[in-house]
Order: sequence, then C-alpha cells, then structure tokens
Amino acid sequence: MVEKFREDSLDLEEYISHNIKSSKPKGLLKCVQCGMCTSVCPAAQHSNYNPRSMVECVLEGDTAVIEDEDIWYCFYCYTCHSICPADNSPCEVNQVLRQIAVDKGIADDHLIPFLGFGDSFLNHGIGGIPENFFPEMKEDIGDDWWDFKTHLDDVRNHLGLDPVFPSEEAIVEVSTILKSCGFEDRINKIRNHHKDED
Ligand code: SF4
Ligand code: SF4
Repeated sequence: MVEKFREDSLDLEEYISHNIKSSKPKGLLKCVQCGMCTSVCPAAQHSNYNPRSMVECVLEGDTAVIEDEDIWYCFYCYTCHSICPADNSPCEVNQVLRQIAVDKGIADDHLIPFLGFGDSFLNHGIGGIPENFFPEMKEDIGDDWWDFKTHLDDVRNHLGLDPVFPSEEAIVEVSTILKSCGFEDRINKIRNHHKDED
C-alpha cells in the first residue's frame, strides 16, 4: 500500500523515489539536468510542460510542482523514459506527482472526463472510450467511424466473430478485482468530491 504524501514530514524526492513503480528508483537522484527528456517530449513541444524542470523541482523539494497544471500535459508515451542517460523516468516521476495531486483533491477537473474508462472496466470488464468523447470523435474522424461504431455487433456477427464484450464470468471477475483493490471506491470518491464542489 502506498502511503499518502505529507508535506510536513516527507521529502518530495524521497517520496517519489520510494513510490516509482517500474524504473530504477535511484535514477531520479542521478538526473544531470541534461534536458534530453524535454528535447524529445511531444508534450513539451506543444505546451509549457517541461519534464526536465519538473524533475529539477522534485530534486529541489519544490512542492509547488504538485499544483502545476502543466504536469497534466504528459500523456505517458515513455519517450523520456527510453532516452534518459541517467536511468531516470520523468514519465514515472510525473505519475507519482499526479497521484499526490489526486490524493490532495486538486485533480478532479483532469480526472472527471476520464472516469467513464473506469466505469467501462467495472461494468463491462473491458476498456472503452467514454461516451462523453463521442461527439468530438465523430467530428474528428467522421461519419464512417460512427457508422462502424454503432454497427459493430452487426459487423462482427457478419464476420462470424464473438461479441466484443467479455463473458459474464469475466466481467464479474474483473469487477470483483476492481472492487476489492479499492478502484471503485476511488472513482466514486473523485466523483462525489467533484459534485460537492459544484
Ligand atoms: S531526467 Fe534524464 S534526460 Fe531528463 S534532464 Fe534528467 S538526466 Fe537528462
Ligand atoms: S512520457 Fe510524458 S514527459 Fe515523457 S516524453 Fe512522453 S509526454 Fe513527455
């Protein structure tokens, strides 16, 4: 279980090193501020987000970075992770920072549009694009996509394929796992917190 970040008692860099999941925790300490991560970062090319300076803030213990809206431009492509000469992963540093922001209740606006992904896993046992994105996708991709999307079962049936959703048994299994690990509680908490703020 990951402990909550407490600004009064925990060092930001120490906390992030401890909670990084898959890259080398010591990589963060080896950052030489070369800026290669920023030079390859697609998000940095189209926003003010800067993974190198995000890492610098962490190493300097500047907790204001947790509230920096720019950290939400990262979309976890892991390019920085692959290129860093110090085995650091700005991508995963970003993930822990966002997690702290979620725990602090300051990330609702970034999370609410995506809660439908969680609902899809809970209710259908599979990820699916939430309906709130449909109008924009229809506009971007066009009517052919919409036609395909709304007749997917017919297309699969015509091709002799099983329905796209998993079996009832699999749905119950996935849902049980997500409930037991606290996933459902978490998304409900975010939703309720957002409603209370409205
Ligand atoms: S995280 Fe890696 S690539 Fe980015 S500035 Fe530090 S050492 Fe360079
Ligand atoms: S994972 Fe995030 S920080 Fe790293 S290169 Fe991709 S968008 Fe940039």
